Amino acid sequence: MAFSVLAHREPLGVKDRFNLYIDGRWMQPQTEQIWTHVHPATHETVARFATAGAADVDRAVQAARRAFEEGPWPKMKARERKRILDRIAQLARDHGDQLNRLQTMDNGLPASSYSAYPLGPEYFADTFEHYAGWIDKLGGQTLADPGGADDVLAMTLRDPVGVVAAILPWNAPLNLFCKKVAPALAAGCTVVMKPSEYASLTVFRLTELLEEAGVPRGVFNLVLGTGPTVGEALITHPGVDKIHFTGSRRVGEHILEVSGKGIKRVSLELGGKSPQVIFDDAPDLNMAAAAAMGGVSMGLSGQGCSCLTRTLVQQSIYDAIVEKAAGFSRNVKYGDPFDPATTSAPIINEKQLDRIMGYIKAGSESGARLVVGGDRPSVGDLAKGNYINPTLFADVRNDMTIAREEIFGPVLAMIPFRDEAEALRLANDTSYGLAAMVCTRDIGRAMRFAKGFRAGKIGVNTFATLPNLPFGGFKGSGIGREGGLQGIEEYTEIKSVYFGLGGR
Ligand code: NAD
Repeated sequence: MAFSVLAHREPLGVKDRFNLYIDGRWMQPQTEQIWTHVHPATHETVARFATAGAADVDRAVQAARRAFEEGPWPKMKARERKRILDRIAQLARDHGDQLNRLQTMDNGLPASSYSAYPLGPEYFADTFEHYAGWIDKLGGQTLADPGGADDVLAMTLRDPVGVVAAILPWNAPLNLFCKKVAPALAAGCTVVMKPSEYASLTVFRLTELLEEAGVPRGVFNLVLGTGPTVGEALITHPGVDKIHFTGSRRVGEHILEVSGKGIKRVSLELGGKSPQVIFDDAPDLNMAAAAAMGGVSMGLSGQGCSCLTRTLVQQSIYDAIVEKAAGFSRNVKYGDPFDPATTSAPIINEKQLDRIMGYIKAGSESGARLVVGGDRPSVGDLAKGNYINPTLFADVRNDMTIAREEIFGPVLAMIPFRDEAEALRLANDTSYGLAAMVCTRDIGRAMRFAKGFRAGKIGVNTFATLPNLPFGGFKGSGIGREGGLQGIEEYTEIKSVYFGLGGR
């Protein structure tokens, strides 16, 4: 029987929206442009949105500027700002089920993954509480004058950086929203957010929750639309002090180019081509193989920035791991994303679907061995959705395109290695550096890899993203960190103060 996601619209409060949130009010944009959100699993129209034009972006930035320069936010008592962030956390917990399901309406995140998915409403609330906690702790230092004078005081102070343009991709709206908005607000900044045009439903609801929590007018503004129009107007706006971007490397490089004009501050959270290194002394070879194949095929189907998409396997266990990973791919079940039996999401749009199929073709042509997948479901309901069968390539060389470029889909590349030195060389032979994992029982080896990997997030036998652990990339995976103390420092400027005490 054909499945449909439309029955969930009404219970979730999903409707067509023809307004943006600017200066504390929901207002109509000054354009007639409409974006239609088509669900990737069924190609049904879920909702239509009015998108912003350059004039709306300007209104939003001006509102954020006023709120920063004249409004109460940066100067508000720490305890009052803290209360508002704590209230946002509580509201996210109260509406956790709705927020989860809105993500499914946005991007097809399967409902079966809500309990295991680490970046849902609970993570969102933890992140707001974490940064609420920094509001009365973030400070500067008091320092000595090397000349030894005792009638001066040298110190540093932290200021909020100002108006922040926060630009999000589509794959994890709750996680991406909280990692930017919580530290930005905690630092005293004001925000203009542009979510992905492919995932706006969750962000609309979060904006309503911020309003309900009492975020003052102009402190948070929402503009919706595509990258080349709304995104471009935002990143080039002279009233923006800082661009905090998560998305593809291509757009990240463009942002670096345009941000030179006006010397805007920039943080970039980009893609990856992350390695998982499996040694024959891994604590559990079945788990290691399941993590490899499951990481690119369960949940969001490999559409995650820190997915471990290159599996480097010690030669002695290589054939066994290939076989186990291929076997694991049979656990993947596509279908109605709200059905608890469905394990994995569709590909977000047809453009990305074609791109992934192009990489699969390139993999086959380059001589890698296609072990499973490589095709699309061709019958029934699934043929109508954006699905690609989980795909495993073995005998991949690290110089092949499928080992070098981010594919962002259910495609895994397996590469054999002889010894530690070769494994580390292959792991780091990439222009990315977001994440890396080593599977071994040997503590010395685990430490050598933790030190040796050129990547921002390291796993030893397992992986976690926590609100208090900094996350971000080396090399082409980005600039800056989200999470923890480093995450809030990204939203501050530091100034040094030299204080004469009256003696000279
Ligand atoms: P994308 O770069 O296509 O789009 C991201 C955002 O940028 C969207 O809101 C888009 O509208 C906007 N945009 C596009 N062109 C723009 C322009 N010229 N100016 C301003 N904004 C513009 O990425 P995507 O397809 O939405 O997301 C997938 C990418 O995001 C992958 O590369 C993935 O690795 C990365 N990602 C990284 C992290 C991380 O934390 N490092 C997390 C999630 C996703």
